[in-house]
Amino acid sequence: MIVVSERVNTVKKTLNLPKFDATLNTDVCDARNNAELTLKLKLGFRQINPVGGAASGMYNDYGSATGTPRKIVKWTPGEWAAWKSNFVRSAQAFWHGKFWLVNQLGYFGYKVGAQIYLPNIWCRFEMVGSEASSGVHHHVIDVVRLDVTENWFGSHSTLYDSLDTRSVQKGTDSAGHAIMQRAHVHEVGHLLGLGHVDIGKAHCLATTNTNASACYGIADQDKNSVMGQGMQLRPEHAEPWMTAMREFVKVETKSTVYTIPPATGLQIALRVLDVLVPFVPKMQRQYPRKPAEVEARTLITAR
Ligand SMILES: [Zn+2]
Repeated sequence: MIVVSERVNTVKKTLNLPKFDATLNTDVCDARNNAELTLKLKLGFRQINPVGGAASGMYNDYGSATGTPRKIVKWTPGEWAAWKSNFVRSAQAFWHGKFWLVNQLGYFGYKVGAQIYLPNIWCRFEMVGSEASSGVHHHVIDVVRLDVTENWFGSHSTLYDSLDTRSVQKGTDSAGHAIMQRAHVHEVGHLLGLGHVDIGKAHCLATTNTNASACYGIADQDKNSVMGQGMQLRPEHAEPWMTAMREFVKVETKSTVYTIPPATGLQIALRVLDVLVPFVPKMQRQYPRKPAEVEARTLITAR
C-alpha cells in the first residue's frame, strides 16, 4: 500500500503480471526524480543441439516440419555463455530507460519541504536470462547455433538462432536504403506485449494474419519502427509500462497529499481523455510537476 509521509511517499511494490513483473518505486522521488517503474522479463534459454550428441545436424526454419532445413552445430559452453550474455545486455540496453509517462491525474503526490510534487513515471527494463532448466520464467527460448555456412534461419519469438543478435537487413525504404534490425530486440517487443507496427490498418487487420509482410510497415516511417523492420522506438512502444500503471492505480490507495481538482470549461473534454489515458508516454525526460503545472498541463523538461 502507499504510505505517504510529509517528505516523500514510500511505495515499492511488485505486481506479477502475466507478461512480466512490474515494480513501482517512489522511494526515489524528489524535486527532480520521478517514480521508477521497472518491468522485469525472466527468460529461460534452452540449447537446441544436433540429435544424438552429434557435432552437427539439421534443424528446420520455425521449428516446423515444413520449414527449410538449416545446418546447425553443437553449442560449446563458451559460445553459449557469450550468446546469452550478449542477448541480455543488448536487449536490456535497447528497451531500458527510454520512456517517461506523464502523470495526467496527479497520482502519487509527495512533499519536499512544503512543496507538493506529482511524479511522472520513468520506464525501466530489466531482463533476467538464465537456464531454462532452473527457476521460473515468463518464457522459455530455444536457440539453435547455426553452422558458419548458414546466414539465415526462420526464427520466432520463442525460437532464436545464434545470429539473431546481429544487425541484418530486413527491408528497404522508398529511397532504396537498407533498413536494418537486430531481430532479438523486435522479438522482446513481442514478449512485452507489442504487436507489429501496422496492425489495425486496412492492409493488416487484427483479425487477419498479423505476421503478413504488410504488417511490418508500408510507409517508410512505419517500416523503420522496431515493431516493423527497423530499430526506431516510438512513444506507443511504452504500452507495456502503461499497462502496468493501469494495474498499479487500481490496487494503490490515492495519495492524501494531492487530489486533482474537478476540471472546468474547456478542460472538461481533456479530462475525459486523461481518465482513459492517465499516463501519456514521452521520449524525453519529464521532471516531477507542481500542482499548478499538472493542472495547466505544462510539461517540465528542465528544472
Ligand atoms: Zn514480429
